Amino acid sequence: MSRLFDFAGGAGMGYSQPDTIMAKESVSLPASLVRKNLPKWPRLSEPEMVRHYTWLSRRNFGIDTGFYPLGSCTMKHNPRVNEVIAQMPGIAEIHPHQPEHHLQGLLSIFHEMQHMLEICAGMDQVTLQPVAGAQGEFTAVRCVQEFFRSRGEDQRTKVIVPDSAHGTNPASAAMAGFEIIEIPSLEDGRIDIDALKAVVDDTVALMMVTNPNTLGLFENDISQASEIIHSVGGQMYYDGANFNAILGRTSPGLMGFDAVHFNLHKTFSQPHGGGGPGSGPIGVKSHLAEFLPGPIVKKRPISSGHEEFAVDDMWYGWYQPANSIGKVQQWHGNAGAVVRCWAYYRRYGYGLKDMSEHAVLNANYLRHALHREAEKAGISDMFIDGATTKVAKHEFTLSLLPAKEKYGISAMDVAKGLLDKGYMAPTVYFPLVVPECMMFEPTETESRDTLDKFAKEFIQVLQQDAETLHQAPITTPVRRVDEVYAARNLCLRHPFDE
Ligand SMILES: *Cc1c(COP(=O)(O)O)cnc(C)c1O
Repeated sequence: MSRLFDFAGGAGMGYSQPDTIMAKESVSLPASLVRKNLPKWPRLSEPEMVRHYTWLSRRNFGIDTGFYPLGSCTMKHNPRVNEVIAQMPGIAEIHPHQPEHHLQGLLSIFHEMQHMLEICAGMDQVTLQPVAGAQGEFTAVRCVQEFFRSRGEDQRTKVIVPDSAHGTNPASAAMAGFEIIEIPSLEDGRIDIDALKAVVDDTVALMMVTNPNTLGLFENDISQASEIIHSVGGQMYYDGANFNAILGRTSPGLMGFDAVHFNLHKTFSQPHGGGGPGSGPIGVKSHLAEFLPGPIVKKRPISSGHEEFAVDDMWYGWYQPANSIGKVQQWHGNAGAVVRCWAYYRRYGYGLKDMSEHAVLNANYLRHALHREAEKAGISDMFIDGATTKVAKHEFTLSLLPAKEKYGISAMDVAKGLLDKGYMAPTVYFPLVVPECMMFEPTETESRDTLDKFAKEFIQVLQQDAETLHQAPITTPVRRVDEVYAARNLCLRHPFDE
């Protein structure tokens, strides 16, 4: 399977190292620890190495080779200018241990990013430390927990989540030791205010809401939900992973939330996949700020005698919140991701508002294009639109239940069929509340032509007979894989013959 190891034992050498002060003689390891034989690593020349990785990349599907209608993960186009800026030596080659006066440029970027996110979220203080959405959630949940402990309200042991919540919400709260109270959604997929009223009392610490929810629907009654939770002394948490639907239009602060996390790698732009690299800053209202993990960047007038390094006559310095829950990440978070997202936002400026407008427009355009093409093909009986409203937000769901029941075609079959058409598959079987679910998120960067073409080809896949679709994919390097095999039988070692 792997080209690289096919070359194992070759004579090539793809690198040369300068002589260093660590000359061989100066290293004295006990003889028992010194290798007798060279490791059986492949020895490749530079061109062999380049060919290996190029070959590997061509077996993969990526946003640079095709359309990616994958909801919630938002693998969207990452403008190359971000990369240029993140690789500038003043950013890429600094070390977190360097003193503040070496870091004024980066610190000013961090400060501006904190401030911009505070404005977008309607929050008072942001920390850039968490490196994933889920980590941001846990961090904020812990801040809320410490807030209540500091007030002696130890009886608040419950966290409320709607059943449409992203799975990380209850997981984060459970990790912090809270009991999870799940409330059912209304028929239309939104929060059931009566169900909420029925479970609130002074044992509630927090309600966690994903808005727009995982069905791509805006929670119309969100302000009322906030009032209900606040009336019993609880806090409101906003899962802002899907901020690209509302950025510049409204804010969690306006909706009554006390804390929020961002997924910079989704909303802004940062190539991510397979679990990283990400950035999941959180923002909180002032009453929670003293519990945030530090350090946070604060701006103050110059006072320290390093005038020549100052940016705009100001000094940027690290600051430790008074009753911090402690660090949640080594160093200062994922600086490279923050810089890329800062570059993205600087490029857009106030146009971020257009970004969210286009994300929502593209989702709704695709949704209607799919209905249009299905009608033309006479197969509009094969799926049900998950959006109960005229306009969805940045993503929408279809239930393929009718296709499954009438023709034996599952959401998984359609997802695999799309791979043969040269597309990444949409998210399938999530959210759990929609049977045979497919979730689409085209993102703001795709053109109308791309969306039209995808809609046509999606319907062509649906028109294939079940037998054919059960075989899909037939054009990919690997066919239908056992989805859990690798997780259950983890093997990370190449089988060398000893
Ligand atoms: C992606 C996502 C998360 C988790 O973010 P990670 O960075 O993957 O940890 C949480 N909530 C929602 C709604 C998401 O889409």
